[in-house]
Amino acid sequence: MTGNSRQDAPALAQLSAYLTQPAVGCELCEVPGGELLWEDDFCRVVSVKDGDYPGFCRVILRQHVREMTDLPGDEQMRLMRVVFATEAALRVMLPARQS
Ligand SMILES: [Zn+2]
Repeated sequence: MTGNSRQDAPALAQLSAYLTQPAVGCELCEVPGGELLWEDDFCRVVSVKDGDYPGFCRVILRQHVREMTDLPGDEQMRLMRVVFATEAALRVMLPARQS
């Protein structure tokens, strides 16, 4: 690569904009979906304010996929680790279930 980092930056920004471009017509891609609790370069965890389901959270991928099984295996595992970590955190934060 011959260009310096200053010249490369716009191309990288363009690439990252393309990769994270929301899918038109997909609610989860277009809106935050709830209060942001945590995020990384792969997915985000949001709290959905729902009176019937206290502590209801969603784990939302940055990339748009129709089904979890559309992801390669390692990304499925990565996603599930976030889901389990979220549940573990909720169990600490929320009072124990009555039943
Ligand atoms: Zn989407």
